[in-house]
Order: sequence, then C-alpha cells, then structure tokens
Amino acid sequence: MSSRQHKGRTRKLCNTAFNQVSLNGEIIERPWLIYSPSTGCLFCFMCKLFSPNSTSARAKRGFDSWDHIGRLGDHERSTEHQQALTA
Ligand SMILES: [Zn+2]
Repeated sequence: MSSRQHKGRTRKLCNTAFNQVSLNGEIIERPWLIYSPSTGCLFCFMCKLFSPNSTSARAKRGFDSWDHIGRLGDHERSTEHQQALTA
C-alpha cells in the first residue's frame, strides 16, 4: 500500500491496481506499471520507454487519478500501449 496527500486527503493506492482480473477470475499482474513515490504517480514504463510517439501526456505525466483506476485498463487496451508492447 502506498499513500499520499491529495487536496488535504490521504489517498491510498491499493495493490490491486497492479493487477488485473481476467474474465475467468484469474489475477494477472501488470508488469508495466510502476509507482513513483516522488511524484505520487503511476507510470507505464513500457510507453515511457518504447512508445514511438510518446506525445501522450499520460505516459509522461503518469496516472495521478487513482480514483479512476479503470483508466489503467483503458490504457492497457490503447493502441499506443499495444505498440509499445510490441516494440
Ligand atoms: Zn502503456
């Protein structure tokens, strides 16, 4: 568990953010997800390193909206991320 102050509230990042649950209930790790304590953000290092057009602000800035953890799944399915995976 990690936590940080955000707008006066402490938000906690649950370890489940680092995993995804597949359709058959199996838990799959997200090896591309890294946490930066200095910025309090989650990053996709695959896109940070391999994205051919890393113009994505999110890839550079990281995920700072932990309350929208579903966005990680959106990112995972994004074309940019898939390209970075195959790079
Ligand atoms: Zn990515």
